Amino acid sequence: MEKNRLIEKDPKPRKDDLIVIGGAGGFIGGALVRYFHDKGFTRIRGADKKPLPEWYQRVPGVECLTMDLSEEANCKRVCEGAVEVYNLAADMGGMGFIERFRVECLRSILINTHMIESAYRAGARRYFFSSSACAYNTQLQQDSKVTALKESDAYPAMAERGYGWEKLVSEMFCQEYWAERGLKATIARFHNVYGPWGTWDGGREKAPAAICRKAIQAIDSGDHSISIWGDGHQTRSFMYIDDCTKGIDRIMHCDKLLATPINLGSSELVSINDLVSKVEKVAGIKLKRSYDLTAPRGVAGRNSDNTFIKQVLGWEPSTTLDHGLRETYAWIKEQYHSRKKGKRVVE
Ligand code: NAD
Repeated sequence: MEKNRLIEKDPKPRKDDLIVIGGAGGFIGGALVRYFHDKGFTRIRGADKKPLPEWYQRVPGVECLTMDLSEEANCKRVCEGAVEVYNLAADMGGMGFIERFRVECLRSILINTHMIESAYRAGARRYFFSSSACAYNTQLQQDSKVTALKESDAYPAMAERGYGWEKLVSEMFCQEYWAERGLKATIARFHNVYGPWGTWDGGREKAPAAICRKAIQAIDSGDHSISIWGDGHQTRSFMYIDDCTKGIDRIMHCDKLLATPINLGSSELVSINDLVSKVEKVAGIKLKRSYDLTAPRGVAGRNSDNTFIKQVLGWEPSTTLDHGLRETYAWIKEQYHSRKKGKRVVE
């Protein structure tokens, strides 16, 4: 295979360049499809293993392929003719999912190895990989009064079992494809992403969506109580989906970030108890709290250190949690009541 064929300076993306998005039926992939469509890109191809009616967002004019990207032949087909490939496909969910289904999480390595090889063989100019804050050393996250995680904190490695290790190894693929083969690969470590069109029920949902749903249920049932996973003191930061799509675009097109993992997350730290209080404010209710200490709780504390992203991009995710939760709560409430009426919804 010809080496380093892609190192030359690439032209600015054209609106009719073919953009391929893996995991386009999911939360972030679906939002990214809409983002590029709204920016005027005319050739977008999305792929996801879910049947089309289950895709969270369907954008008119976008080619949608139902395909299992853990199979090499499908990745080749999906990447054919691609100028840019964004890989957001993964078998994942919130803490409840990734602590319980480590094999599923690890098996996403098949998606990531086949997608990057197919992107390379198709001659794609750039490749984006969605990594995670779960790739960071868990020993640095034992205290809820966390020191924010900076990019170098992934090594020495002691990632989250299953999901985190898989992300770390897939990051290495990106780095080596750039070093050995000249594929312009970029890597963002997402910190919890939330917003409308995200999973909000069924076991894969993350804390903001779960708490919004529980508050809506509590109001609907009239029992006004909420069960919180862990002791509520664990801390996290949450990034609104619009910041995530903007960040992906900026990271993908920044040459200083080739093969260089970077945090993409909010640095607004809250405890889960704070998060419940914020949702109560949006919902206009006071909930009776109980704590499930046997439930998965993840690391004690985690925040995104945004020094690097501010330095390289002069930008960081800045939508406040108050604003994002208002949007998210309103959307989940609408979904909840539609489902009650028997209408098909995103879950
Ligand atoms: P999601 O579950 O909503 O979307 C992932 C999509 O990938 C799903 O639609 C799923 O059907 C699809 N998929 C899974 N296996 C597949 C396969 N074999 N072939 C084709 N499609 C397959 O998750 P998301 O929140 O949109 O996450 C997108 C990416 O961002 C993932 O790589 C995830 O690990 C990463 N990430 C997300 C968060 C977050 O807070 N949402 C945080 C850190 C990292």
